Amino acid sequence: MTQRPPRFPLVLDRVGRKAPARQREPVSSNAPPPSGVGLDSQHVRTRMVERLRAQGLTCRPVIDALSTVPRHLFVDAALVAQAYEDTSLPIGHGQTISKPSVVARMLSLLFDARGDKTHLGRVLEIGTGCGYQAALLAQMATLVISVERLRPLHDKARDNLATMRRSNLRLVYGDGRLGHAPNAPYDTIVCAAGGEALPQAWLDQLAVGGRLVAPTQADARGEQVLVTVDRHENGWSRHERDAVRFVPLRSGTA
Ligand code: SAH
Repeated sequence: MTQRPPRFPLVLDRVGRKAPARQREPVSSNAPPPSGVGLDSQHVRTRMVERLRAQGLTCRPVIDALSTVPRHLFVDAALVAQAYEDTSLPIGHGQTISKPSVVARMLSLLFDARGDKTHLGRVLEIGTGCGYQAALLAQMATLVISVERLRPLHDKARDNLATMRRSNLRLVYGDGRLGHAPNAPYDTIVCAAGGEALPQAWLDQLAVGGRLVAPTQADARGEQVLVTVDRHENGWSRHERDAVRFVPLRSGTA
């Protein structure tokens, strides 16, 4: 039986994005003041994570991050009601924020390869988009470098993340196909856009013992598959995982 998720109360904490007063939930006099999104969105976020757990999500740091990061603050106001449904959503400029189950799958695959199950070490993310996954990663990593090739999205992510003050997260405007050499090597590389092949720079910038997760073209028809690549002392091993559909990995900046 599929349960409809509860409707998300349209109460936001950001300037200029407030819902009309009639949609606000009553706050009792002894309740703490609505200082953030927590009071209003925690319930629907918890329900989202419960559904992902029912589908098999077991990785504790991923569960904790998905339970904490307010996904509704990363989507346009008109889409807020869908922010905690398992669906991808447009973020402008022809791009989409991946659906939570896909994000959970990618992050879990990254943890599967790690000896230290508490964090992802030094992370390179290609495709910042609206910054949602970058916020999740920042909660699970010592350092996150997130690269975006579209200036408006790079700027949007910076705005979205401004209030979250993640001191270990750095947003870079550039072509992520080149990786980001100044902070290499990375224990973890994750990409949210699919190209014809995995760029050599990513393989080179992956630390020995590290894992990369990315969609890439599986066949001549352009079907995509999620792959993991593990780097060993003497090479790399690649495994194809799930059939997926990500936006294209493009070259250059715009
Ligand atoms: N993880 C993101 C999803 C972004 S969608 C989120 O949480 O919102 C994929 C993103 O990859 C898009 O923003 C797209 O512009 C970006 N992208 C595509 N090719 C790229 C490249 N070569 N370098 C950096 N970013 C790229």
